[in-house]
This record gives sequence, C-alpha cells and structure tokens, in this order.
Amino acid sequence: METTLILFKPDALHRGLAGRILSRFEEKGLQIVGLKLLTMSQEMAAQHYAEHVGKPFYDGLVGFMTSSPIIALALRGPGAIHVARSLMGKTFGNEAEPGTIRGDFGNSRSYNLIHGSDSAESATRELGIFFPEGLQEWTPITAPWLWDAE
Ligand code: UDP
Ligand code: MG
Repeated sequence: METTLILFKPDALHRGLAGRILSRFEEKGLQIVGLKLLTMSQEMAAQHYAEHVGKPFYDGLVGFMTSSPIIALALRGPGAIHVARSLMGKTFGNEAEPGTIRGDFGNSRSYNLIHGSDSAESATRELGIFFPEGLQEWTPITAPWLWDAE
C-alpha cells in the first residue's frame, strides 16, 4: 500500500477542473486520506521544488504555484504513486496522451494542472510538507474489492 501527494495547481482551480480531476482518481479506486485548499507560501514552494532550484523554469514555476490557491490531496492504494502518475500523463500537456488528465485538459508545457509524487521517497517528503499534522486513517467498506484483499 502506498500514499502519494497530489497537487491541483492554480490553473486547475481557475479553470474549474478540480472536481473532474478528483473524479479520475476516485473512479480509479484511490482512497482520499488527505484533502485541503491552501495557498502555498514561498517557503513551501522552495521546499517542494528543491530538486528544480537553478533550472530555467524554476522562478516561473514558484511564482505560478504561489499565485493563488491549490488543492493538496493525499491518495492511497496499491501502487498509488505509479498509478497516479499514469493517470496524470506526461509532464507537458502537448505531449501527454489522450485519456490522461494532462492529455485531456491542457496543451501547455508549464501550466499542466497537476503535480504527483514521483517516488516513495518524494511522496514521504512531500506529504510531510503539505500534511504535517498527518492523514485521515479510515477503511472504505469497498476495500476488499479495491485492494484485492482476502
Ligand atoms: N516545468 C516547466 N517547464 C519545464 C519543465 C517543468 O514549466 O521545462 C514545470 C511543470 O509545471 C512541471 C514542474 O515544472 O510539472 C516540475 O517538473 P518535473 O520535471 O518534475 O515534471 P512533473 O514531475 O511535474 O511531471
Ligand atoms: Mg516532478
């Protein structure tokens, strides 16, 4: 079982796509264990995007991500990190496959609607930034069917 950190970026909220994007994950069977609307501080953005410091797109990315509210989401399920990245599609909207969130809803390279952790290490680190208080522990009554449990 894995838990991954997802962010709906400002463009997802401005464009009124938050509900539709959330539905993709719910329909897939990922469990919501954290959900909040917040505006990222400069400090949070710097922590979250530490791996990109110094890259040409870094300043624009941080400016964009701190410009208005985002939704932070913690999703759980078997292979949740990879599954969520698959649902998101490739980084750039104009390269992401149809059927994916980025492929269906955007054509931009910078404003690509969504972030998802890329590894178990990233997920642990990023969940700590957005959910320092911890996650909601609960068991869906459909768990045996969602998770192949005995
Ligand atoms: N980004 C950008 N220009 C680039 C590369 C990345 O604006 O040339 C932005 C884009 O919003 C992307 C984020 O920086 O989602 C983080 O980049 P990363 O390579 O980690 O892509 P991701 O993990 O989001 O697919
Ligand atoms: Mg990344």
